[in-house]
Amino acid sequence: RALDAIEASQSTHNAYTHVDRESAVAAAKSVDAKRAAGQPLGALAGVPIAVKDVLCTSDMPTTCSSEMLRGFRPPYDATVVGKLRAADAVIVGKTNMDEFAMGASTETSAFGITKNPWDTSRTPGGSSGGAAAAVAAGTVPLSLGTDTGGSIRQPAAFCGVTGLKPTYGRVSRYGLVAFASSLDQIGPMAWSADECALLMNVIAGFEPRDSTSLDQAVPDFTLATESNDLRGVRIGVLRESAQAEGIDESIRNAVKHAIGVFAELGAEIVDVDLPHREYWVPTYYVIAPSEASSNLSRYDGAHYGHRAGAEAKDLVSMYCRSRAEGFGAEVKRRIMIGTYALSEGYADEYYNKALKVRRLIRGDYDAAFSQVDLMLGPVTPTPAFPLGDKIDDPIQMYLCDLFTVGANLAGVPAISLPGGFDPSGLPIGIQLQAPTLEESRLLFAASAFQ
Ligand code: GLN
Repeated sequence: RALDAIEASQSTHNAYTHVDRESAVAAAKSVDAKRAAGQPLGALAGVPIAVKDVLCTSDMPTTCSSEMLRGFRPPYDATVVGKLRAADAVIVGKTNMDEFAMGASTETSAFGITKNPWDTSRTPGGSSGGAAAAVAAGTVPLSLGTDTGGSIRQPAAFCGVTGLKPTYGRVSRYGLVAFASSLDQIGPMAWSADECALLMNVIAGFEPRDSTSLDQAVPDFTLATESNDLRGVRIGVLRESAQAEGIDESIRNAVKHAIGVFAELGAEIVDVDLPHREYWVPTYYVIAPSEASSNLSRYDGAHYGHRAGAEAKDLVSMYCRSRAEGFGAEVKRRIMIGTYALSEGYADEYYNKALKVRRLIRGDYDAAFSQVDLMLGPVTPTPAFPLGDKIDDPIQMYLCDLFTVGANLAGVPAISLPGGFDPSGLPIGIQLQAPTLEESRLLFAASAFQ
């Protein structure tokens, strides 16, 4: 039934780059057989799930929504994909995204734009726009996204679903096609925090094949969603951010409303400040492109991916033509910014300086979390914007990340949860952030709110 729903929604929303009836039916049958034989079943037995097309799947293409990887089939599964299979989930397909996860609207995909199921003239957000739209359209109850600077939380907000970016290192990145390795993290997207908790139980945990994976005990995240008594919980509110210029009135009101709900549930509301907040976006847009320029140097037309045809007369022109043809405009822009920021003579002024500012930003988080248990604020400055609105203006697109990149730079977990609607009926997201490894705290508060 999920497959029929996907096929019906695909022509309207284009949330998927690949739907795999054959693999999905085979997985569902093997679950049925296990059930019939009385064998123990995994935590997600028979549950249909969609996976962002940046995660390696051995039985389906993995394209990162790029011409560079059109039709590419990895020889192995990402760790999280293997864990889904071990939990008996049914992977129905791969979801559309901004090319190599660079963007905030899913409009940079080489496989067409994805439309927001709430209003098809608007973007679902990005880069995990397909994963958010797939859940919002009701084609799957769960999906996996990735978040380097907001790519789980912003599309979750635009599509009225719940999305969690775990602590950096909580979920193994093995088999995740790298964008910015010090920021990338895989996380769940679902209707509610309860389902995100279920999926976190399956995907979280130490893994030696990812050298940045955290060797820390993993709690049962579903336990966190059982209570809604927030007495004694201190929630810091970034007042100044909710009042900043350029923030839609409807977002401000949703944050205000959420503060009221949390106060009613017993939380103590405390004003907090993250003094270096104005440097979040500039710092992110030096560090992320720098790491991207290095990570994407592997696409040379020789190892894998698109290779230019016979017109390339020697090795260097083969490299150049393959990259010129395979990458889209935004990816090229990031590679150029990153190469410049890392180049000799400029690295101290840009990349190394950004690393220092990142340390200050982390310090702000440490100071704030010495006073409060959670922080509450907006996810995005506006609700979902119309398709085509920002795609020709990179700076406007980058400013979509105003509230989300801080958690990535600091490495802390953050969740986006549905927090109401604007007057035209578009969903609005509310963001909660927690100290390192405190995903349970996020899920507890989010579930109480819901
Ligand atoms: N919008 C941000 C960017 O374009 C975030 C992307 C992401 O988290 N993958 O870099």
